Amino acid sequence: MVECIFCRIVRREAPARIIYQDEDVTAFHDARPQAPVHVLIVPNRHIVGVAQVEMEDAPLLGKLFVVARRLAEELQVTNGYRLVVNSGPLSGQSVFHLHVHLLGGRPLHWPPG
Ligand code: AMP
Repeated sequence: MVECIFCRIVRREAPARIIYQDEDVTAFHDARPQAPVHVLIVPNRHIVGVAQVEMEDAPLLGKLFVVARRLAEELQVTNGYRLVVNSGPLSGQSVFHLHVHLLGGRPLHWPPG
């Protein structure tokens, strides 16, 4: 079994503030939030990152967006939020289990840096 911190969170073996979970997707608050709302939405299945996705993953990847949209509503950040997916070490990806950051609750600047 892959020893990955997000896999362990999905299996509820590692602590996290999970706010959504179904058979495909888990969402939890980021441990080091960069905004008042900072949630990570992850596939339950271990996918390393965007560089590893295949066409057969498309429904699962779409579901990450739908969950993000619902959580943005629930967390009341629909006046402006950002979905971020870092891919590869130069992007700042530090956990190699695909995840969508949902950031909101403050002005978000561009370019992101
Ligand atoms: P990235 O840099 O895009 O790979 O994002 C990884 C994110 O995971 C960072 O924002 C970390 O703060 C967050 N993170 C790492 N470990 C945990 C954890 N155990 N629980 C919650 N968030 C975590």
